[in-house]
Amino acid sequence: MIIMKKDATPEQLKRVVSEIKKHGLRADISRGEFRTVIGLVGDESQISFAHLAALPGVKEARMVETPYKLISREYSELFQGKDEGKIVKVGDINIGGNEPVFIAGPCAIESRNQLFRIAEEVKIAGAHILRGGIFKPRSSVHSFQGLGSLGPEEAEEALVWLRDAGQRFGMPVMTEVRGESQVDLIAEYVDILQIGARNMYDQDLLGKVARKGKPVLFKRHFGAGIEEFLSFSEYIAAEGNKDIILCERGIVSVGKGKSHTRYTLDLAAVPVVQKETYLPIVVDPSHATGRRDLIFSMSCAAIAAGASGLLIEVHYNPAEALVDAEQMVTPEELKDLIDACQRINKVVRNKS
Ligand code: PEP
Ligand code: MN
Repeated sequence: MIIMKKDATPEQLKRVVSEIKKHGLRADISRGEFRTVIGLVGDESQISFAHLAALPGVKEARMVETPYKLISREYSELFQGKDEGKIVKVGDINIGGNEPVFIAGPCAIESRNQLFRIAEEVKIAGAHILRGGIFKPRSSVHSFQGLGSLGPEEAEEALVWLRDAGQRFGMPVMTEVRGESQVDLIAEYVDILQIGARNMYDQDLLGKVARKGKPVLFKRHFGAGIEEFLSFSEYIAAEGNKDIILCERGIVSVGKGKSHTRYTLDLAAVPVVQKETYLPIVVDPSHATGRRDLIFSMSCAAIAAGASGLLIEVHYNPAEALVDAEQMVTPEELKDLIDACQRINKVVRNKS
């Protein structure tokens, strides 16, 4: 990254940027209160740092060792002059502020009535953002794939319901984008684009989603280490979109015998990610455990670990849900969990 002098002129900045572009790289310009910093995007071996450091207006050219740079704390501290996390704004909801944000809704949208009833009930329970799957990633081609897979008209109809339910009950909305062909349509209707765990590695999808300029909820793949998770979120940041909400949703379980949980919730990832990046991280205990009876305790634990929010699957009658019935909580259970988490949040944030 290139740190400009405090009194560097716009012409000097331009010259540095054109030098970067000449070598086939892109420039991520961050203007802070104190100084301007340019992050290099691309293959750095193509350019000489000594050459950049010698250009007029440049204070320093610094190498960042981690594979993720634009989302690193080191980068944000340079231009902000202070160690502050990013707040991702979605409407008037702040993700990454002092209050935890609750994202709730059905695993899959099944009908207008089902969605509107759940939307109303999660709103009353205290949720801030409404989620609902339209294109579902499923392990079996014989399972319900979400209304989106029935055809373009059904997909758009479900998106209209989602947008309308959000407007009716005053919540921004989110749904998963499972493939590149869905990006344009989905981005017309939702406030947050979700990248599912299975697609964490899809660079082309990440780029296309990022270029929509909307906040992205980015889930960790169940086989990915933290470094890999953060490296792939850099594909979104590299498109100039830093409105990234990271999401821990469990990693594969190991060992012989029954594992008892669907995945292993990696709670330590929360404070680790917060040390490494300035991006907010939320936790999804629903997919991590796959068990309704564990959602309350794991939600409390996630907030105690410092998470900026939770993603919880909710249904008024979990048993009748077409997808993930075993992990859905009822709106009443959601309310209890939100109340407890808000109390825990006060305790953990008040520590000096
Ligand atoms: C989901 O949120 O609906 C989902 C399928 O989650 P994941 O990608 O974490 O499995
Ligand atoms: Mn689900």
